[in-house]
This record gives sequence, C-alpha cells and structure tokens, in this order.
Amino acid sequence: MVADRELIPFSRPYRSAKEISNLTAVLASDHAHGDGPFTASASARLRMITGAGHVLLTTSATHALEMASSLLGIGVGDEVILPSFTFPSAGDAVARTGARCVFVDIDPATGTIDPTQVIEAIGPATRAISIMHYGGMPADLPALTSIARDHDLPLIEDNAHGLGVPGLGIAGVLAAQSFHDTKNVHSGEGGALLINDFALVERAEIMREKGTNRSQFLRGQIDKYSWVDWGSSYLPSELNAAVLDSQLSEFDEIQRMRHAVWNRYATELAGWAHDRGVMLMDPPGGIHAAHLFYLLLPEWSMQAEFIDALRAQGVQAAFHYVPLDTSTAGQRYGRTLRPLDRSEDFSHRLVRLPLWAGMPESFVSRVIEAAKSFVPVR
Ligand SMILES: *Cc1c(COP(=O)(O)O)cnc(C)c1O
Repeated sequence: MVADRELIPFSRPYRSAKEISNLTAVLASDHAHGDGPFTASASARLRMITGAGHVLLTTSATHALEMASSLLGIGVGDEVILPSFTFPSAGDAVARTGARCVFVDIDPATGTIDPTQVIEAIGPATRAISIMHYGGMPADLPALTSIARDHDLPLIEDNAHGLGVPGLGIAGVLAAQSFHDTKNVHSGEGGALLINDFALVERAEIMREKGTNRSQFLRGQIDKYSWVDWGSSYLPSELNAAVLDSQLSEFDEIQRMRHAVWNRYATELAGWAHDRGVMLMDPPGGIHAAHLFYLLLPEWSMQAEFIDALRAQGVQAAFHYVPLDTSTAGQRYGRTLRPLDRSEDFSHRLVRLPLWAGMPESFVSRVIEAAKSFVPVR
C-alpha cells in the first residue's frame, strides 16, 4: 500500500552535534569509567534545567527509582502509593524492597495520579507516595505536596517525561529522569536521581558507588575508601555522559522542535477530533514537555483499528500502559482499594502519534492525513 513511502517511525533518537567528538575525547582520555568531566558537566546542566539541589547521573531511571526506595528505607511490611497508569519501573522500585504497591486511579484530564484517591489509600503501613508526570503534564502538585506534608510522607517523582517543565523534579524529596533513547534527550540508556533533601546526598553517593565512600575519596575528603554501606553500581560510564552532555547542550533546540510537531497535531487535528468524538491531549494551562502526543478514541474497540489503519498508511502509532494493577506482577506485588476504572478506560482508548525532534514537516502532514482518513468499522 505504501511501498513507495518511507515508514514513519514512532520515535527516533536525537543526534546531537558533539556526541561523536565527545566520545572520541573520552576514549582518548583513558578515563571511560564514571564521574569524569562529562558526568560533571551533564550533571551541572541538569541542575540548571531542573533547579534540583543535587543531581547524580545513574544507569537508568529505573535505577534512580530503586535508589529512591532504598534511600527512604522502604522495605518489608511497608506500602507505597502509586498510580496504576504508569511505567512498570515505579512498581519494580517498590516490589524489589519487599514492600507492597497500593495502586490508585488517575485524573483522566492528565493521566496523572488522583490526589483524592491518594488520601483514601494512606494507612499505617504507607511509607511514600510515588507519582509520575505523564507527558510532562504536572500531577496535581499543590494537592500532593500538601497531602505529603500533612501525613509526613516523602513524595517521589518519576519525571522521565517531564524534563524542562518548571517545578518538575523538585517537588518531591527525590526524582528520577530517564535518558533512554526514546526520551527527549538520551545517552542510549541512562538516568539521573535528583535529590532535593541535602541529608540524603552522602548516602546516595555511597549507594551509587558500590556502597563505598569513593566519591569523598575523589574529593580528597578522606585518605582511603572502603565499603561503608549497602550499595550497587548505579554509576554510568563517561561514554554515556559524553553523549548526554552533548544532547543537553542542545536541549532548548530539541524542545523547540518537539513542540513544533506537537503544536501541529493539536491545531490540525482539532476539527477532525471534534467531529469524531476523539479527545486530543489537552494539557491544563498548556503545560507539557512535548514528550508525547496522544488522543483518546471514543470507544475501546477503535484502538487496535486506529493503530492498524495508521500502519497501513506507513505510520507507526502506539498505545500504553497496561494498568499495573491488572498486570501479572502488579497482582503479585500490589493491591487496590477498588477497581481502577479510569486507568483502564484511559489505556484502552489512548493512541500516541509519532513525535521526535527533527521530524520532517512532510511526515507530520502524513500522520495528520492518515489520522483524519480513519473510518471506524461499526
Ligand atoms: C522510560 C520510562 C521509565 C524507565 O526509564 P529507564 O531509564 O529506561 O529505566 C520510567 N518511567 C517512565 C514514565 C518512563 O517513560
């Protein structure tokens, strides 16, 4: 059907100008392990972008979330409240400690955790509230921070989608960023832990360096380093940091290009969506990170049909997430207070369109035309 037309991929990793020369510099420097000059530079850029007090690069967002659980001392007998509509990493970070996930529903306007359900879910075993800013649309932070304060519970932010949105990554005690190559800026695989409570910094540095005080040793604060606490190897290599630093140096330009694609979808699909009963992503206050663009079809049955119809026209679209409370591991490691209807409905109606920095205008036009030509089978 579209043999003459190039497939439009769902996402394409960004190529930054200096990534190759940075990599060459690392290899020539004989310092390819972690915590070299590119790690320092990328961390400084992340502090600038987010406003976080302290940033530690990690091997992934999943590992940053793992570190968050460990830093907060979450363990057997504890519970963590999190949205069902999120990426499995948030559940992994709880389950691996032996604690239980308590899944709650979302606000369908943003796909982020519903604060009223958080209040209901708080009990004597609750140790933390874990939230995610879907597409970089902020979860209801005024409500969530006041709930966290009233109940003396730490807030953990999964900010994998929301880099650059003011206030995200610094509302919680700890936050995770992802630099997987499907994210706005990437290092192949990678992440960062943002630490907003200075009291946790020293322990986090130790945890990231195999449980040793090597970071203090490198700063000349101690004469020799040794095993001082539980830890792991969460430190990315300088090669990853070299790519990340190059990408972050172009962050504003990347965001400008992604927002341009996002804005075309929002504008040019609006009339069609209105006529067809389709809801387009509509961020409150226009605040989002241009990480993704989604639409909600009026009926569950249309999701697969719509994705297939786009694919027939050479356009790769995608859905997500399978609500964690309905997943195999979610049932083993979590519980709910009630059926989470909004998460289920959202995930069955949602389709994401291709979006990346530098996506050609002609591709964006083809996606829009393909979407508009969709006729549901009734
Ligand atoms: C990508 C993603 C993660 C996982 O990131 P990794 O760096 O691959 O571990 C976690 N949460 C959300 C919301 C994500 O989009």
